[in-house]
Amino acid sequence: MDTMRIDVLGVGFDNYTMEEAVAEGMRLIEEPGAHYVVTPNPEIVEVCRENADANRAVNGADLVIPDGIGVIYGAKILGTPLKQKIPGIEFAERLMEQMAAAKKSLYLLGAKPGIAEQAAVCLSKRYPGLVIAGTHDGYFQEDESVVKEIHDSGADVVFVCLGAPKQELWMEKNGGATGAHLLLGLGGSLDVFAGVVQRAPKIFQKTGMEWFYRLLKQPSRVGRMMRLPLFLLHAMHSKGGRR
Ligand code: UDP
Repeated sequence: MDTMRIDVLGVGFDNYTMEEAVAEGMRLIEEPGAHYVVTPNPEIVEVCRENADANRAVNGADLVIPDGIGVIYGAKILGTPLKQKIPGIEFAERLMEQMAAAKKSLYLLGAKPGIAEQAAVCLSKRYPGLVIAGTHDGYFQEDESVVKEIHDSGADVVFVCLGAPKQELWMEKNGGATGAHLLLGLGGSLDVFAGVVQRAPKIFQKTGMEWFYRLLKQPSRVGRMMRLPLFLLHAMHSKGGRR
């Protein structure tokens, strides 16, 4: 699929609708070997511009989907629009619906101790048929024992929720050894699935203002979010250069 990627400031995005992306995710679960999915937002694209390891891990993914409206704006500014935004958490929800129907198993890795277990309880209620193969918090020192646990659980899919770019580097390094067919880097999603953190109300999501809601709720994110205007400036500058 690499050939069809749309370059947004050095990160290649697959140009899919939500339906197409989920179908591709399900296809990868059936394919032999390990695959991983990343869901970069403008902040992560900016990190990839400064950090070669993050850049390699992100672009090395089998599926790269635009999490959030910022990347959509960036692609538009660059004159190479993407079909739609695909929030990572919604992608995960749609995938779990289909995994439940296909009786696939899921391992939850990440977040503070107790959260992944809580998310497991909520998700098994919400998606009857979905098998939770195991859970582990995201504050471990050695990869080896965690990788072994995932491997022994026989999970088909792993949600890796360690924040970016830690989760992307982790999947690149350890994906194959887990024995799973698909790993997804999903940031703070386990906190949402566990009911500890709420997503923005629908009106914010629909109007592309979810980032603003998160900023109001967690003003400490302002430093990280300053990367968004920077990202848009870089896109405009790069477009100027391309002309
Ligand atoms: N986290 C973790 N291990 C770490 C650092 C972070 O499991 O070493 C978890 C953290 O508890 C949170 C998630 O990773 O659940 C990151 O959340 P954040 O909202 O920062 O992620 P984003 O989606 O913005 O990258």
